[in-house]
Amino acid sequence: MGVYCQMLADEKIMKSLEGVKKALVLTCPGCACESLSYDKGLPNRSLNDGKGFENIAVAVHKERDRIKDFFSRAGIKTNTMTVAFPCELVETDCRQIVKMAEDVDAVCVLACTGGFLGIRDILAGCGVKIAPLMRSVGTFVFHIGIDDSGNYTFVERENARILRFSTRESGRGAGFQGNAD
Ligand code: SF4
Repeated sequence: MGVYCQMLADEKIMKSLEGVKKALVLTCPGCACESLSYDKGLPNRSLNDGKGFENIAVAVHKERDRIKDFFSRAGIKTNTMTVAFPCELVETDCRQIVKMAEDVDAVCVLACTGGFLGIRDILAGCGVKIAPLMRSVGTFVFHIGIDDSGNYTFVERENARILRFSTRESGRGAGFQGNAD
């Protein structure tokens, strides 16, 4: 099962970045990629690039590029970095993220809530704003197909199974609603 996460509304993201002139977008190539492929009908992963897990994640990088354009139109200069995985950070990644964050006003996390918390923890005390771009809304089991070109995988919507977190409870012990899409 993967973590099903969805984009926050653009207006909400922009509100969280008031006053920011330079941002770093950190991208997770894991479940965030399948989630966006499902939500937005994007190609999921490239089958032919052979450039490593971080680089074959098509859907999440398309969304990152959309966000980068969106920020650019709002006057925010944007650097990017892909981290596999923000929920399981290794020491070398942590050092690189801290270094990249030195140069920006805000670090924006394109990952589930767990990934956001992982990044927030390592940047605590750095004095940089840390903003989520997505939020976890459940877990998924997806069947992955191959498109007609043979170049990309995609999430089969008709076979998708999503268990949404309960919205009736919150805090420790809150569980699944139990309904599957
Ligand atoms: S950070 Fe979240 S979205 Fe990325 S691999 Fe980990 S659980 Fe999945």
